[in-house]
Amino acid sequence: KAKGLGKNQYCVYTEEMGVHEVRKMELEKDLQRALDQDQFFIVYQPKWNVKTNRLVGLEALIRWQHPRLGLVSPGEFIPIAEETGLIIPMTRWTLEEACRRCKAWQAVGFAQPVSVNLSVRLFQTDLLTELISSTLEKTQLEPRFLELEITESMVFYDINDIIRQLEAIRKLGVRVSMDDFGTGYSSIGLLDRLPLDALKLDRLFIDDLDTPSKRAIIHAIILMAETLQLDVIAEGVEKQEHIEFLTQLGCHVMQGYFYGKPMEDEIIERWMKDHDRREESQR
Ligand code: C2E
Ligand code: MG
Ligand code: MG
Ligand code: MG
Repeated sequence: KAKGLGKNQYCVYTEEMGVHEVRKMELEKDLQRALDQDQFFIVYQPKWNVKTNRLVGLEALIRWQHPRLGLVSPGEFIPIAEETGLIIPMTRWTLEEACRRCKAWQAVGFAQPVSVNLSVRLFQTDLLTELISSTLEKTQLEPRFLELEITESMVFYDINDIIRQLEAIRKLGVRVSMDDFGTGYSSIGLLDRLPLDALKLDRLFIDDLDTPSKRAIIHAIILMAETLQLDVIAEGVEKQEHIEFLTQLGCHVMQGYFYGKPMEDEIIERWMKDHDRREESQR
């Protein structure tokens, strides 16, 4: 039964469809309206430099407050948005919102760059560079305050075209980092060709850092990044022992629940203020 679809809406559900397919169809249909109805919002997660003991950036992560289903995770709706092409207007919204917020924070004394995740679908549109430069212009954010996170799945696409677009983006002064590095399809063979500023070590590596082989792999990645002049940031840092292992291996920038979960804008603003106060009182 098609519940909650609203008037004049028609949806074909068949006997063979599982709960999963039904939910996916509903989300697909509702996603169309979500943008117009302001159902998306952004949460921000701190990136922390343990050497300087300072906040060095904020990652913007999208959330969908569905009117009936509640909070839907990006892991569930991003793939649908990619299939339907909605990822393009959605990214346009996210970019602008994150840049605007970053600019507003600067005005109240928090000068950290913001990073936005980019689906590989954006690279197939040929309007990505233009989208980024027009957003920067519109929001008056300086390019060095924007970072884009891409994933290894790009290796399946026309790599020369992607390199060309990444070069154009970096020429604007925007930073680019490779997200979830080390999982999925390895882009190691392409690392020296991709114009990048940083690698983000996937959370899965950080999970069991106490095994010698995992440590060896992370160590090798960090050494390789150094040679290629790429910054390294670890994601999914949850425990004190993670920090100890990572710093021993030469990784000093971290992101994870240990430092802070992704937070709504007013909450992260308070979080940043509290950190400033604590720092002042230590002086
Ligand atoms: P990601 O870019 O790798 O983001 C990190 C994910 O790990 C986030 O999940 C974050 O909440 C979670 N995380 C952070 N620290 C920890 C930790 O210490 N422990 C654990 N267990 N998890 C942690 P989230 O927000 O659900 O996002 C999932 C993925 O969805 C993101 O992975 C990103 O690939 C994608 N995504 C999120 N927002 C956007 C967006 O605006 N556009 C696009 N294209 N993709 C997005
Ligand atoms: Mg990311
Ligand atoms: Mg990541
Ligand atoms: Mg990840």
